[in-house]
Amino acid sequence: LEERARSCLLRFRHRLEQDIKPPYLMDHMISDGVLTGDEEERIRTQSTRKDQAVALLELLLKKDNYAYISFYNALVREAYDDLANLLYDDLPKMSQNAHKSNSDSNTSYVQTVLSEGGVPQRPVVFVSRPELVNRVREKLYRLQKDPGWVTVFGMAGSGKSVLAAEAVRHQGLIEECFPGGIHWLSIGQLDKPDLLSLDSQSLHRPPNSLDEAKERMRFLMLRRYPRALLILDDIWDSTVLKVFDIHCRILLTTRNRSLADSVSGAKYEVEVESGLDEKKGLEILALYTGTKPIALPEEARSIVRECKGSPLVVSLIGALLREKPNRWGYYLRQLRQKQFKRIRKSSSYDYDALDQAMAASIEVLPDEHRELYKDLTVLEKDIKIPAKVLSVLWDLEPEEVEDILEEFVNKSLLFVDSHNKPYLYYLHDLQLDFLVEQNRTQLEELYSLMFSLDWVSIKAKIMGPAHLINDYVEYGYILDKENSDVRSQFQEFLSLNGHQLEQRPFPDVVQLALSQPRTSEVYRQALLQAQDRTSKG
Ligand code: ADP
Repeated sequence: LEERARSCLLRFRHRLEQDIKPPYLMDHMISDGVLTGDEEERIRTQSTRKDQAVALLELLLKKDNYAYISFYNALVREAYDDLANLLYDDLPKMSQNAHKSNSDSNTSYVQTVLSEGGVPQRPVVFVSRPELVNRVREKLYRLQKDPGWVTVFGMAGSGKSVLAAEAVRHQGLIEECFPGGIHWLSIGQLDKPDLLSLDSQSLHRPPNSLDEAKERMRFLMLRRYPRALLILDDIWDSTVLKVFDIHCRILLTTRNRSLADSVSGAKYEVEVESGLDEKKGLEILALYTGTKPIALPEEARSIVRECKGSPLVVSLIGALLREKPNRWGYYLRQLRQKQFKRIRKSSSYDYDALDQAMAASIEVLPDEHRELYKDLTVLEKDIKIPAKVLSVLWDLEPEEVEDILEEFVNKSLLFVDSHNKPYLYYLHDLQLDFLVEQNRTQLEELYSLMFSLDWVSIKAKIMGPAHLINDYVEYGYILDKENSDVRSQFQEFLSLNGHQLEQRPFPDVVQLALSQPRTSEVYRQALLQAQDRTSKG
């Protein structure tokens, strides 16, 4: 640790020990790879908050400049603005990787403005995404003359917050458009208790009601910060957004594309693609492990591929490897086996594990839609499907299905290929894996679909028998755990009658099924249906 930084820590040690809550801060520091799990554990076992704080500072004094920066960022992210300001002046000047994209971005003027507004520093390991950054800046320039909204949206962990902070790290933009400063507010999910609880130690008393908040905001922005930019990070709820509908300049990050629909004024949007390209992904791993990209082991490439370049996942694994550099194979295997929980989570990011980040997205769906979303496990990797298939699965009107899918897409829970008519929908691999994992307990549903003559008939009609046979092959290993005889009976039925099931008009499946051996489950179900038909006349 640089001398200045150390001296600053020592000078304010007492203040810091009084105020900080170590567990939250340590989450961020772990995700930055500057604190190990063991170290965290040792601090957590201290019995009081104060003891934990003392231990954390003790440890920090033994660490390097990165740890100091990470600690500073953690303070910013946890809204300890006053404390962060104490540390600001002595932040070590790291020549940020090789990526000082241009001299415009890191002048001390820019640093000062951003730090005053509580904008987080770059993550310790950072790669540039120039095209995206420029897209956001271009939209921000449109707020020069008039107030308005820029929405940065994308799926969990795609790098929205990092991107928002990077976009405003630009002297020209600040001077020309936002001379009133850049103010960062971490919003997050409001049902998180610690956001709402009144904390006596915190200097920021949260407003008691949304109306009060809105009044305070209006006053502040008008009187104290005209021509300022407000960055609302991670907004979930449009009622929160409405508080800020006070004719000012706002950049918001969200997973929900349509959030700004409910507010007034000019609106612009930028979509953050979910993954980095391979080169950038490898660069992150190289930076974490202190090697050159070409010197990375072969597993590195597989890790980046496996998570489709998700910045969150690549960084998580990078941070782990920094701690345990010989675990390339191990982490790759875990990623492949979808052991998300064990991929110990960052929480620069407020969730304990990647799967919780994903679960959070799903939990905010209305109950009915959440159940429907979980049904999407029937989708297959890399296969895109039209809304029609889901209208069968869900037994809903096609229009209703379209609305629901649109909601999922807007919330970054589903992707749409709109070059095709009708539109085709698909899940990100990580989302699919997550759903499958989560639904393991709900496998009965899969069995009940795949072992049902009704389903076979419906899906064969829409997607054709080849797809269906493929389902039995693909899910064979799961279905066999339930009943391998029944699985092979269905598969056999399909293979024998494939050509018939391609005919239009579509044949009577019950009739076809009645020609199966009497011992077959397919026959049994057909017989029941036939009897049912007779009894109904
Ligand atoms: P989001 O806001 O989309 O949920 P964040 O911006 O918080 O995602 O990014 C999630 C994590 O991904 C960060 O904590 C960081 O570790 C990593 N990350 C994101 N963008 C970058 C980047 N440009 N370079 C390096 N790491 C990044």
